[in-house]
Amino acid sequence: MTFKIAPVLTVHGGAWDIPDDLVEPHRQGVTNALAAGYALLEKGASAVDAVQAAVAVMEDDEAFDAGRGSFLTSDGRVQLDALLMDGATLRAGGVACVERLRNPIHAARLVMDLSPHVYFVGAGAEAFAAEHGMSLIDNSELVIDRERRHLADAQLKQRNGVAGPTPAAASSPTQLAAMHAATSHDTVGAVALDGHGNLAAATSTGGTLNKSPGRVGDSSLIGCGCYADNLSAAVSLTGWGEPIMKLVLGKWAVDRVQQGTPPAQAAGEAIAYLFHRLGGHGGIILLGPMGRIGVAHNTPRMAWGTHTTRGMEVYVR
Ligand code: ASP
Repeated sequence: MTFKIAPVLTVHGGAWDIPDDLVEPHRQGVTNALAAGYALLEKGASAVDAVQAAVAVMEDDEAFDAGRGSFLTSDGRVQLDALLMDGATLRAGGVACVERLRNPIHAARLVMDLSPHVYFVGAGAEAFAAEHGMSLIDNSELVIDRERRHLADAQLKQRNGVAGPTPAAASSPTQLAAMHAATSHDTVGAVALDGHGNLAAATSTGGTLNKSPGRVGDSSLIGCGCYADNLSAAVSLTGWGEPIMKLVLGKWAVDRVQQGTPPAQAAGEAIAYLFHRLGGHGGIILLGPMGRIGVAHNTPRMAWGTHTTRGMEVYVR
């Protein structure tokens, strides 16, 4: 197939202190996501189709904090958030606090394609998805034993006053920042440039461990954990959601690209801004309209990879 522009797909599977024994599952998950999304781009599919497919693969993979295997809320449930955005038209679809969908990114796509609205939450989002053919599952199907143990651990630490990843346990912003730096951030995301020169972005998450029911983070909020505009760039973030939201960091980063900063530099500046302004931690993937990528994180490791016409590169470092 001949393209007007060479397609690019970049994905991430979280940024945190990924332990050695989890490096391989992260590498494999990122590889699978890139393979699925890039196969579509090679056939001439849109950037939107590619990011949706890549994210769905990682939602299905229990290694990540998205779909089944996500972190649990303080009352032991999975609540998922996802956003998809089309850089060609600025159409977007988002869902948050959904408990009965295996792949919230597919619901986000339905919202984008079929609704006059942009964002649905909770039962309304589930009803919308069901009306358009998605099956509703029991929340327990999304909960796995590993996460029951993580939650029990976090709550034990909270009760014992040991710094855990729960904001309620922090007594100062510095302590809160330290807690979150030590916490896993396994949100997934993808940015793509298709052969027609269009950008898209998608992000999906189970949020943070032991979050209060109803809490929504940055991942599914437009301009925070996800954004795409052909006139600037496509971006997906992971990390401690509250500071990312306050800085509207995704939009901040793509605006810099629009103003002429190369994506690699803008990605680094975004993470530096996150840290210096609010003590935040996380990682970013950023893709410009000419196919240049930027990746940065201030966590010990980030799982990410990129696929171009020259092949695939995957990193957990
Ligand atoms: N940013 C996500 C949130 O705060 C968490 C993550 O990236 O792991 O919901």
